[in-house]
Amino acid sequence: MPVAYIALGSNLENPARQLQAAADAMAAETQIRIIAGSSVVRSAAVGPGPQPDYLNAVVAIDTSLPAETLLDRLQAIEHAQGRERAIHWGPRTLDLDLLLYGDQQICSPRLQVPHPAMAQRHFVLYPLAELCAADFVLPSGETLAALLSNCPADGLADSGITLDYHPQH
Ligand code: ATP
Ligand code: CA
Ligand code: CA
Repeated sequence: MPVAYIALGSNLENPARQLQAAADAMAAETQIRIIAGSSVVRSAAVGPGPQPDYLNAVVAIDTSLPAETLLDRLQAIEHAQGRERAIHWGPRTLDLDLLLYGDQQICSPRLQVPHPAMAQRHFVLYPLAELCAADFVLPSGETLAALLSNCPADGLADSGITLDYHPQH
């Protein structure tokens, strides 16, 4: 079964509670097994207008779901937690992005994997690095270490919040 990595983000309506609810919902899916989850980081929002800070984390999962079906489940969880797609990059209760799906490269109208913006996002790369070996290689052939060295952690803070990921062994 492929190991996939999911980025969780929230900056509305008690973000810590939103992230915990998302972890709970993923753990409740019979075809998703949570292997591990990262710490929760805080950063300023990127996007239109003033917005509350974001909390972000990454989880590693084993899944028997094909990538597009996994995306359907992630979007259903977003929807269940009140996600509205009103403004592009606007504030949101929950954002679940599929970062990596095994070593697959996917480019379909509704799914691009690896997530095209992950290399530029400190709030994705640093939590991801907590879950991966130091020599982790992406499908592009780049190492995670190389991506990290090109993406300063400036502005990224430890939130001090710990999630219960219900890792299933
Ligand atoms: P960004 O993708 O830059 O982080 P966003 O998360 O705010 O922006 P959304 O509005 O959540 O963007 O998603 C827009 C569309 O992106 C989704 O409807 C989905 O079909 C598509 N998409 C493409 N690749 C992915 C991926 N790897 N993970 C999640 N959604 C993806
Ligand atoms: Ca996103
Ligand atoms: Ca998204």
